[in-house]
Amino acid sequence: MRRQRSTRIVATLGPASATIERIRALHKAGADVFRLNMSHGSHDDVAALYQAIREMEKTATWPVGVMVDLQGPKLRIGRFEEGSVTLREGAAFRLDLDSAPGSTERVQLPHPEIISVLKPGLTLLLDDGRIRLRVEDVGRDHVATRVVVGGRLSDRKGVNVPHAILPVEAMTEKDRIDLEFALDLGVDWVALSFVQRPQDVRDARDLVNGRAGIIAKIEKPAAIDSLDEILDLADGVMVARGDLGVELPLEEVPGLQKRIVRRARAAGKTVVVATQMLESMIRAPIPTRAEVSDVANAVFDGADAVMLSGESAVGDFPEEAVGVMDRVARTVEDDPLYLGAAQSDLTIPEPTTADAISAAARQVADTVNASAIVTYTTSGSTAIRAARERPKKPVLVLTPNLRTARRLALTWGLHCVHTEDARSFQDMIDKACHWALRTEMVDVGGRIVIMAGMPFGSPGKTNTLRIARVTSRHAR
Ligand code: PEP
Repeated sequence: MRRQRSTRIVATLGPASATIERIRALHKAGADVFRLNMSHGSHDDVAALYQAIREMEKTATWPVGVMVDLQGPKLRIGRFEEGSVTLREGAAFRLDLDSAPGSTERVQLPHPEIISVLKPGLTLLLDDGRIRLRVEDVGRDHVATRVVVGGRLSDRKGVNVPHAILPVEAMTEKDRIDLEFALDLGVDWVALSFVQRPQDVRDARDLVNGRAGIIAKIEKPAAIDSLDEILDLADGVMVARGDLGVELPLEEVPGLQKRIVRRARAAGKTVVVATQMLESMIRAPIPTRAEVSDVANAVFDGADAVMLSGESAVGDFPEEAVGVMDRVARTVEDDPLYLGAAQSDLTIPEPTTADAISAAARQVADTVNASAIVTYTTSGSTAIRAARERPKKPVLVLTPNLRTARRLALTWGLHCVHTEDARSFQDMIDKACHWALRTEMVDVGGRIVIMAGMPFGSPGKTNTLRIARVTSRHAR
């Protein structure tokens, strides 16, 4: 009836998983949130996937989250006469504004605003860092570079400029159009690509206006420098290891991942670890030992969610990949080292009523050996504070707001039920007992700890903790 794990799984949809049957199979295998990537596919394709998820959700036992990932200001070179060229180490190579097809001597870089901030000595990385160029000279309409690491370079490959804050906003005109379209569809989360400054998140907040949660993808060194402010403004962050590993030396990414997860957890914000988690499963039915270890480490760190990209979008074994993540997460969560590591000293309560009640709920549940913590929430904020405590017992969230239930599908340890609010104190206890029993979190005779707010139905009012014993009467 409920997931037997607290860590959530995000599966990116794509050609390998685009039918309702495949989406249902992924959900059954363990996917809690589906990611739709605006870098690929038309609005019609994305709308069809969204409708398929919602159709599937009608027969699912609990609400399902949908995340839309905006493309962001990805820089790209133009095209080549022959489709590709091979760049030799030590050769001169020029990037300019001319749209004529490129050669081994030059190619278009259709971003004048970028050329204007480049300086001699800066490094340009092309094609996910496979090709490395050093800037030697910058003109009004071109940049002259020297090839440091060469190789084959083909049409429209991406360009990264590490160690430079670029004069571009995190949202392009395409992103703004895609965002309105996604919000109209009703998506629960919006992921912002290439966030560089807190202002990028502020701008997105103004546009989103509470209609979805905002995930800031951390993939630029500049974003790491302002991480605390970004965490303050966003509802969550994603450790986007793909671009992060291009912008920074790869060996720095694991330490950064740990730091980002810790800081997000301390702030009580949702944190997703993403990219190449089970990369070899794009073509193979079983993962490598190193990949299993990678997923396990993210779970041990207490990340809210682990994510699949190509594995579930274009791979040959999408369901198997979700199944591996599910098994790894469940096994780690049963490890005696797990909760000690997850609870650690990260979750010192802040001086608010919600944190006081959440911390007390965890302690009381341990002391009386309750089977579950049940929380009522409208906006979701109390449930997120309860999850921040990383309690040993599952957290059942009762909410009258379907949007809240769907959004919380991304948060560690929360099991959401969409149901009407309590009408009275007794009703609050009876409903909590009923749903805890119905979701198999407790047996008749067991105890639960209930967090609620009075007056009922008013957000931000959690102020009550109650221990209740479940009886056979609650089965009805
Ligand atoms: C990443 O770079 O790791 C990432 C998640 O972003 P995208 O999949 O858009 O490249």
